[in-house]
This record gives sequence, C-alpha cells and structure tokens, in this order.
Amino acid sequence: MPGARPVRAPRGTKLNTLGWQQEAALRMLQNNLDPEVAEHPDQLVVYGGTGKAARDWRSYDAMVRTLQTLKQDETMLVQSGRPVGVMQTHEWAPRVLIANSNLVGDWANWEEFRRLEALGLTMYGQMTAGSWIYIGTQGILQGTYETFAAVAAKRFGGTLAGTITLTAGLGGMGGAQPLAVTMNDGVAICIDCDPRAIERRIEHRYLDVRADSLDHALQLATEARDARRPLSIGVLGNAAELLPRLLAMGAPIDIVTDQTSAHDPLAYLPLGVPFDEMASYAAEKPADFTLRARESMARHVEAMVGFMDAGAEVFDYGNSIRGEAQLAGYDRAFAFPGFVPAYIRPLFTEGKGPFRWAALSGDPADIAKTDRAMLDLFPENESLRRWINLAGERVQFQGLPARICWLGYGERDRAGERFNDMVASGELAAPLAIGRDHLDCGSVASPYRETEAMLDGSDAIADWPLLNAMVNVASGASWVSIHHGGGVGMGRSIHAGQVTVADGTALAGEKVRRVLTNDPGMGVIRHVDAGYDSAEAVAEARGVRIPMQEG
Ligand code: NAD
Repeated sequence: MPGARPVRAPRGTKLNTLGWQQEAALRMLQNNLDPEVAEHPDQLVVYGGTGKAARDWRSYDAMVRTLQTLKQDETMLVQSGRPVGVMQTHEWAPRVLIANSNLVGDWANWEEFRRLEALGLTMYGQMTAGSWIYIGTQGILQGTYETFAAVAAKRFGGTLAGTITLTAGLGGMGGAQPLAVTMNDGVAICIDCDPRAIERRIEHRYLDVRADSLDHALQLATEARDARRPLSIGVLGNAAELLPRLLAMGAPIDIVTDQTSAHDPLAYLPLGVPFDEMASYAAEKPADFTLRARESMARHVEAMVGFMDAGAEVFDYGNSIRGEAQLAGYDRAFAFPGFVPAYIRPLFTEGKGPFRWAALSGDPADIAKTDRAMLDLFPENESLRRWINLAGERVQFQGLPARICWLGYGERDRAGERFNDMVASGELAAPLAIGRDHLDCGSVASPYRETEAMLDGSDAIADWPLLNAMVNVASGASWVSIHHGGGVGMGRSIHAGQVTVADGTALAGEKVRRVLTNDPGMGVIRHVDAGYDSAEAVAEARGVRIPMQEG
C-alpha cells in the first residue's frame, strides 16, 4: 500500500501534542498499527478480517498531523478512517468523534460496501480497530476465558480438565481460544489454514504446540485429556474439510466452536482453494469466491451440528458462520446457539462487560501497579483475582502494556477514579487510556451475537448503541465512535465505543466517574427495558433511574 511504514506509539512522558487527551488518541491510533499489535499493519489492517485503523496512509498522516496541533477545546471528526474536519467545541467534549462503515439500511451489504470502499469513500472499522482501543489478542482473551469458564460451569462441573475443545481460527481474536481453554485446564485442537497464524500464536505463547497432522493432533489431545493436563494444539488445514473428517472418525470432542473470519466471506478460505491463492482469488473473482466460501461454511456448520447431535456442547462464537451457512442453503444452521444468549447475557444484564486500560508510559510496571490496585479494590471478586493473577503470569503484552477484565455497573467508575488518583499522585509514570470493546452490555445491536434472542424480541433495535454513544459524548469521554458491521459483518450490527483518559487532573477524574458510570449504566437500562429481572435488581440496588418504573 502506498506510504506503508512501520508505526510505533511514542512512550514516556514527553508530549507530542498539546495535552494528554490528544496524546492518548495519537498513541492509541499508532499502537493499533504497531506490527506487534496489528495483523497486517502495512495495509492498516488491525484485526478481524479487514478491520482498519485508518482509511489509507494519507488519511493516517493527516490524523497524526491534526492530533499534534489539536487544542483542548477542539474536536477532530473522523469519517470512516479519514479526518474530515476540526470543530471548536469545549473542554468537556471528546477530542475525537468517529463514525465508521455506516450505511443506510437498504444499502447495508458487503457488495455496496466494497463498491464504496473501492472508490476510496469508506473503510471497515470492525469494533476496536477503527476506534483505536485494540490491545492485541489479550483484549479478547479475558472474554474468551469467561466464556469457556461459563461452558465449564454449565456442563463440566466447573473445569475443562479432561475435556477436548475443537475450534478453528487463530487470528487476532480467535488466537485467544487456545490460551483461554488451557487457562480453564482443558485441551484444545485449533485449526487454521494460515501457517503464519499458528506460528504467531506459538511465538506469543497463546498456543502450546503444532501437530504434524490431524491424527497427530488427536493423539496429543487424547493423551493430554487422559492425564487431565492442559494443552493447546495447532493444526494446519481447512476447517471445512477437517471438521467433517473428525466427525466421521468419531473423534471424542466435548466442545465445538469457531472463530474463522466467517463474518466476511472474502476472508474465509473455500474448500479446494490453496491458502496461497486465497488473496488473489478473492480479489479477482469476489462473487465466485463468496459463493464457494459460503458453501464451505455450510459443510463446516453441518459438521458442528453433527457434533451437537453426538452430544457435544456447540456454540457460535460471534462470527456469523450460522448466517453464512444458512445463506448457502443449510437449513439446520441455527440448531446451536450463539455464545451471548448461552453464556454472556447474565453478565450483561448486570452491566458487566469488558473494561480495559493501556499504560501510555509504555512501562509494564504501571500495569503491574494497576493489577494490584484492582485486587485491592475488589477483594471479594474471586474470578477477577484468578484472572488478574493468570494474566500477570501468562499474557505477553503486544504494543503498549495493557490489561483487561470484566467489571460491572458501580465497579468501572471506582476503578477509573482509583487509576486517575494513581496518575495524579505520581504512582504511575504516565496517564492511562481507559476504554472497552464495542461488544459490551449496552453498546451494541447485533441480532446474531450480542442481542440474539432478547427476552422482548428487541434484537434488531439499534437505538441503544446510538444513545450509548451520545451519553458518552455528553459525559466527557475522550473519544467516541459509532460503527456498523463489526464482528458479524455488514447489515448485521450497529455499535458504539468510548475511550476516556485518566490524566490525573481533577477534570479527568470527573469525566472518568461520569463516563464509567453512565456507559455500563446503558447495559442495565437496556436489559431492564427488555424485561430481565436481574437487571431490575441491579437498577434497584444501585439506584439506576428508570423513568418507566418510577411514579
Ligand atoms: P482474523 O481475520 O484475524 O483471523 C481469522 C483466521 O481464520 C485467520 O487466521 C485465517 O487464516 C483463518 N481461516 C479463514 N478461513 C479458514 C478456514 N476455512 N479454515 C481454517 N482457518 C481459516 O480474525 P479474528 O480477529 O481472529 O476474528 C475471527 C472472527 O471472530 C471474526 O468473524 C470476528 O468478527 C469474530 N469475533 C468474535 C468475537 C467474540 O467475542 N466472539 C470478538 C471479535 C471477533
């Protein structure tokens, strides 16, 4: 791509901008493109198929230039990865407002999106790629760990020890699966068609070993399972071929899921296509490729349903593979559930979701200090303690040191305020950027994923993420984004994100308190509105005002 070059966020306390709010946006944009963080940085692709941080390198340069001179009462507007204006606002306003990949309903499909993208008019922002708060695979690790812990609790007596999980996709997000399974003491067989993806996960210590063949993988898996020893095994191949083979062999698989890039049929390798021809084939014959990819996904999902029929715990891991298989004519595609209604919804109803922070100093010691602060703040939270300790031992940072954990309503604001105090007192070397995934309790409408099977049938109502973005703007977030199509693809989701910078000032303390109260508060009110009792209980206990329940 013209203008491509290695990018790395500055470290330390010397500002390259006029203030820490702008500096944070600059560093996090650059951090998203750090080769340690991004999957294909030369193409500005961060993760999730083609999720980008900037539309093209000219737009990237213009954003950097603008952030370097942006004042405390100015706001940069970003339209699908390109800075399009700077407006005078005020110090409580976000320094950056972002809208990525949004299309009007009837036009919201991949074909139209790609036509516009080819004209240079838009880009795919995924969730945290175009909103500059991707922190590498760790970002998804904790959510994946929570999900597998919930699977263990539901079916296997609270542990995955003695079980084998079968999955595919070892990319930016999917690469978290092997470590999440072994953190829950299980065995994982992980298929990917890209040898680089397997090597990268081994390098980053997310994956333990690579098997020479499918038989070898199965042998390693059963030995480890019988010894109740955690082990993750990578195996090279096409999932649409290997899953049906494993099913036919009667492989003793307990849990099946998938995180190939099925949300984008041009990023899923069709059966019979060699991996090294994938990119050119997709570019030259997109319609043909899409058709074959969908047909292959139908074979893949059919095998997943076969494992379900044989008694395995099977779930869709948020990549829309069921929807694509259905488009190819497979009529049992939705026989197994999505992971949100199956395991995550109870957390969402309480305003719980992925809370993350990055140390702008670049100093890992800052994260170690915040880890200790979290344990001190929430001593009664056993799963948080287990996660923070495991993460400290096993997670290798990518780019700026960062941490993630799931916190609920009434917790995130306490953590944020403590962090701001730690910056103010000089305990931390520099400010923290505090944000989250768009996959959160009140920030997304996505009927195949986060809002699948809502109690009141409101799955496709997209007012909630828009209200979420507006409330974050009104509460003092440092940057706010509204995206379309993240996770599950064009036409299937609308979602919002926020990042708020704890720079140690009193003003930042106030902003952090309000944003980190109101942002998860959206999750509580969204689920109260949909009729979830557990959300009502949280609202009542913690004083979340719901006008329709007053008077
Ligand atoms: P990615 O593009 O970085 O990685 C996808 C991987 O799938 C690649 O390594 C690719 O080689 C592999 N692949 C493609 N076709 C294959 C095939 N036929 N057989 C075997 N391997 C194949 O994407 P990612 O960031 O890892 O995300 C994966 C999917 O998960 C996306 O659809 C994404 O939207 C979804 N996702 C889910 C969650 C969640 O919480 N559940 C979160 C983020 C993303």
